[in-house]
Amino acid sequence: KTPGGEPFFAGRTQCPFCSVQCKIRMDGEAKPEGLSAFRAHGDDNAASEGRLCVKGQNAHQHALSGERLLHPMVRRGGKLVRATWEEAMRTAVGMFAASAEEGGPDAVGVYGGGSLSNESAYLLGKFARLALGTRYIDYNGRFCMSAAASAGSKTFGVDRGLTFRLSDIPKAECIVLAGTNLAECQPTLMPYFNRARENGASIIVIDPRATATAAASDLHLPVRPGTDAALAAGMLKVLIEEGLIDEAFVESRTRGFEELRERAVNQMTLPQTAEFCGVREDLIRRAATMYGRARTGMIMTARGVEQQTDGHLAVREFLNLVLATGKIGREGCGYGAITGQGNGQGGREHGQKADQLPGYRSIADEADRAYVASVWGVEPERIPGPGVSAYEMMEMIDRQEIRTLLVMGSNPVVSNPNVSRVREGLEKLDGLIVADMFLSETALLADVVLPVTSYLENEGTLTNLEGRVLLREAVRPAPGECRHDWAVLGDFAERLGRAEGFRFRSAEAIFDELRLASRGGRADYYGITYDRLRREEGVYWPCGEAGGGSGLMFERSFAHADGRAVFSAPPQNTENGRTTSSAYPLLLTNGRVLAHYLTGVQTHRSPVLEAREVANFLEIHPAAAKRIRVRDGEWARIDSEAGMFYARCRVTDKIREDTVFAPMHWSGSQNVNRATLPDLDPYCKMPGFKTTPVRVLPYGGS
Ligand code: SF4
Repeated sequence: KTPGGEPFFAGRTQCPFCSVQCKIRMDGEAKPEGLSAFRAHGDDNAASEGRLCVKGQNAHQHALSGERLLHPMVRRGGKLVRATWEEAMRTAVGMFAASAEEGGPDAVGVYGGGSLSNESAYLLGKFARLALGTRYIDYNGRFCMSAAASAGSKTFGVDRGLTFRLSDIPKAECIVLAGTNLAECQPTLMPYFNRARENGASIIVIDPRATATAAASDLHLPVRPGTDAALAAGMLKVLIEEGLIDEAFVESRTRGFEELRERAVNQMTLPQTAEFCGVREDLIRRAATMYGRARTGMIMTARGVEQQTDGHLAVREFLNLVLATGKIGREGCGYGAITGQGNGQGGREHGQKADQLPGYRSIADEADRAYVASVWGVEPERIPGPGVSAYEMMEMIDRQEIRTLLVMGSNPVVSNPNVSRVREGLEKLDGLIVADMFLSETALLADVVLPVTSYLENEGTLTNLEGRVLLREAVRPAPGECRHDWAVLGDFAERLGRAEGFRFRSAEAIFDELRLASRGGRADYYGITYDRLRREEGVYWPCGEAGGGSGLMFERSFAHADGRAVFSAPPQNTENGRTTSSAYPLLLTNGRVLAHYLTGVQTHRSPVLEAREVANFLEIHPAAAKRIRVRDGEWARIDSEAGMFYARCRVTDKIREDTVFAPMHWSGSQNVNRATLPDLDPYCKMPGFKTTPVRVLPYGGS
C-alpha cells in the first residue's frame, strides 16, 4: 500500500518538474517496502526522446510522501485542525462572502500557478471572473515568463515559448543561450545541443556564472547581471558595422529597423559596452560575428535575461538580433524562451493572468471579451476588467484592499520578492484559503487548507516549451480525501450560487470548453482533442479548425495584422536595475539547481532529491570571499535593503568577482527572497530578481 492507503500502481505519466514534460513509465510492484518499490523510467516521446533526469526519476516520491495532505483543515483557536470538506468549504465560502459584502467583489483575490494543468488554469480564470466576480487574479508565472511573453507578443504578435521544434536544434549552425542554464534546469534537452555541436554548430553562452551549460559551449560571455540589454545592443552594432544584416528579410518581413540603425550610430561604443557589461570587447565581437555569419542560428533566453527590471526590453534586444539576421521562420532558426515551470507555456495562455482571457485573448479588447462571454453564456459586462500583477496583488493585500485570497498551486510567501513584507500582508487577510498537496509555507498561514491531487492522480493537458500540447492521464486514484482542483472550484461555484458553467464531470469536458474559448484566438487549441492527443502523442498549437501546425512558426508571416515583426529601439539605459554601492558592493543573482523545483515544496519531500542538496548555498568568487573573510563551507549572512538570509558559502572561480548566486528553493531564514527587492519591470511587472545589491558577512563558521 502507498502512504495514502491505495493499491500499488503502474502506468504512463509525465514529469511535473519542468517545461520539457518528459514522459514517464511507472513500474509499481506490490511489495511492502514503500517508496523504493516504485521505479520511474523515461518513456518514448518526441520531446524528451525517452530521457529522464534525476527529478523525473524521483518525482513520484513526493506524490507518495507520508506528508501529503489527505483531508481538509481549518484554523480553530489559532491552530490548523482536521475538518470535513463540508466544514472547510462552508468556512471558505463564508470568507469570500464576508469580504465581498464589505468591500465588493474586488475585495477577493485569486492566485494561481504555472504548474496547474491547462484545464485548472482555465477554470481558475473563469471562476475568479464569473463565480467571484473579481478582477484580481494573477499567478506565479508572472515571476517566470512575463518578460519573454510580453516581448514575444510585441515583436511577433504572439508568444509561444519556442518558435521552432526541439528536433530543429541540431540543424542550427550557431546557438546563443542567454541567461539559461539548461544543463541543470532542463537536462534532458542537452543531447539536442550536443548533436548540434557534433554537426559543427557553435554554442555561445551568456551568463554571469560558468554554469554546466557554459562548460558545454564554445564561447562564454560572463555578463554583469542587469546588462544583457546593452550586450545584445552591442552585438547588433557589430552586425551593422560588419554588414551582417539580412536586408532582404528586414525589408520584406519587419518594421522599425531604421530607428535601430540610427540608434547604433549614437549608442555606446563597443569598448563602452564591454566595460558596462564586464565582458571583453573581443568576445562580444566574436559572439556577434559567429551568430551573424552562420547560415542558420537560434537565440534562446530564460530567467537570467528576463528577471530584470528591464527584462522585457532585454528580451526585445535579443529578438532584434534574430530579426536583423533573418534567422526565424525556417529550419535551424528561431527564438526560444525556455519556460521553466511544468506548464509554464499553457499556464500563461488560458486566463489566469490579470490581463488575459483564454486563447491568449486580451481582457481589455471588446471583441475578445464578447467572444469569451458568448462561450461562457454571459453578457460581456459580467467579465471584470484587467487586474494587477502578482506582486501588486501582494501590495494590495498589505494595504488591506484585498481581504480574502484563494491560492491554488502556488507558494507566494516564499516565491515573491521582499517576502518578509509579503508575509506580513498575508497575515492581515480576513481569509486565506490554500489548495495544495502539502502544508506549504503559505498553507501554514491559511485559515482553510484544501487537499488536492498530484500529477499521478489528476488527468489533464499541459503545454510544453515548444507549444506541444500533451495529455497526462492519471495512474493512481486520489489518496485520502483529496479532490481535483476543478472539483474544488465547481463545489465553490455551486455554494456561491454560480453553479451554471461550472458543472464539469471530467477534465476532458473542461478542455472541450477551453478549445471553444480559444477558437480563433492567438493560442488556438480548437483542433486539439483528448482522442487526438492519445493518438498523436502531442499536438502543436496553433491548431484551429483546419488542423495542427508543424511546430515551426512564422514561415510566411508574423502574427501582427500586417504580417510583419516589429523591431524595438529603446534608448540605451546605462543604469539598468539596481547598482551596487559601498554599503552593498555585490550583485546577488538567483536561480535553480538540478535537484529542486520552485520553492521546493515538492522536491524537499522527495528523499532522493532532498539528499542531493540539503541547504541553501552562496556561490562566491575566491577574491570576494577573501575580502569578506569567509571560507568554503562556512555560513554567511547576505544583507540587502529588503532583508537578509543565510547560506553556506561555495567559493568558486566560476562566478564573476562582483556577483554572488543563491538558489531559490529554500524557505525560512535560507530564503533568498528575504533579500530580493520589489522593483518591477514597467512593461510586464516582472520583479528584478537577478540584480539585488547585497553585502555578505561571515556568520558563525561551518
Ligand atoms: Fe524531464 Fe524536466 Fe522532469 Fe527532468 S525535470 S525529467 S528534464 S520534465
